[in-house]
Amino acid sequence: MRPLVAGNWKMNGLASSLKELDALKAALLAAPAAAEVLICPPFTLIAPAALRVDRAFALGGQDCHAKPSGAHTGDIAAEMLKDSGASYVIVGHSERRHNHGEGDGDVAAKALAAWRAGLTAIICIGETEDQRGAGDAHYVCSHQIDGSVPSAATPANTVLAYEPVWAIGTGKTPTADEIVQMHAYLRACLVRRLGTGAHALRILYGGSVKPDNAGEILHLPEVNGALVGGASIKSDDFLRIIRAV
Ligand code: PGA
Repeated sequence: MRPLVAGNWKMNGLASSLKELDALKAALLAAPAAAEVLICPPFTLIAPAALRVDRAFALGGQDCHAKPSGAHTGDIAAEMLKDSGASYVIVGHSERRHNHGEGDGDVAAKALAAWRAGLTAIICIGETEDQRGAGDAHYVCSHQIDGSVPSAATPANTVLAYEPVWAIGTGKTPTADEIVQMHAYLRACLVRRLGTGAHALRILYGGSVKPDNAGEILHLPEVNGALVGGASIKSDDFLRIIRAV
């Protein structure tokens, strides 16, 4: 299984930021990465990025609407992402779940939309600090898998991202032992839900992955890559994470 190192720029990046992608491309062409590399810039930069990146690495969206078209002001269809040059889309990020009230059913519908458009869905799950404090982290994540991962998910059309909400943008991460335990548990949930083929479905860890901790996290069992927010915006930092694989 080839690990995936994915960058999520969130609501950051103007045309001037495309130079970071030029630098990333040059570095990856000079020394190819062991991991598959993906950047999810804001919607506005996908098409210009696709022209410059020219498949040196993959591009993705950060969200999509469940419908292919229609009267949905301000939304973006998975087909539009594909048309702009994306091959992935993140769905169910905790910032979408919490700031836009998206539930598991919405996330599953978006994953189906991604597949319909020919995109790979990166489905995000993760517990809040309160849920972890109450001892419910495993239960919450298993419930999110059942509700957010459609039963037709395969290693080719889906990636799962485990992102503890309390670790996103905080500089805090679970211990290595906690990540190992959770990823083993998530693997078991996926296999229970999807069958033994799910042993090959990539499970990313996300939440305060930085150049300094990437080496440890990316080598843990059942960690098949990372979803990186803040440290993906500067190509130097992101490259150090990619090279940690
Ligand atoms: P972070 O964000 O790396 O800045 O913690 C991760 C994410 O939200 O995907």
